Amino acid sequence: EQKRTIMTSQDIDLALKRVGLQILERNQGAKSLAIVGIHTCGVFLAKRLCRILEEQGGRQVEYGSLDINLYRDDWSLISQNPVVKTTDISFDVNNTNLVLVDDVVFTGRTIRAAMEAIMDYGRPHTIQLAALVDRGGRELPIQPDYVGMQATILPKERIQVLLEENADCNEVVVEC
Ligand code: 5GP
Ligand code: MG
Repeated sequence: EQKRTIMTSQDIDLALKRVGLQILERNQGAKSLAIVGIHTCGVFLAKRLCRILEEQGGRQVEYGSLDINLYRDDWSLISQNPVVKTTDISFDVNNTNLVLVDDVVFTGRTIRAAMEAIMDYGRPHTIQLAALVDRGGRELPIQPDYVGMQATILPKERIQVLLEENADCNEVVVEC
């Protein structure tokens, strides 16, 4: 098994900072900005983004999370219907500019499920998407608004997102 690093710790930091600034730029004057992380790694990234937004924008950002069931133990079997397991949304989503945050966007099915879950809570003014890695391979008309990096990889390859919140380093590697 071979591995190649596609993002170093510094790459991740810079990408998140850039994405944070882009979010602020595109949501200028927004009454309320909300960041919603999707399960494990998206939650860590969302929390990092909140910190950056509050540092750079100097204002409070609403925060929430979604846990979506995926059956990715076998990476050749992509779940056709990701299901939202638990939600932690304790703010009013109505009229917010709400940014979903995930580590990797692939087919787009997870994001579709996430959007549906969010819309059960109300009607955000906008829903936007930030992903650390866009690995292509979309099966739905869903594209991220903010991307850390595009990775053109083979369908059978797997991206490993390592973040110090649950690993011993910050790194994105491709396992082939
Ligand atoms: P999608 O639903 O777009 O096919 O897949 C996105 C979801 O599956 C995300 O929550 C993401 O964490 C996970 N995912 C898809 N492909 C990969 C991958 O190559 N590596 C990792 N770490 N997660 C992936
Ligand atoms: Mg995930």
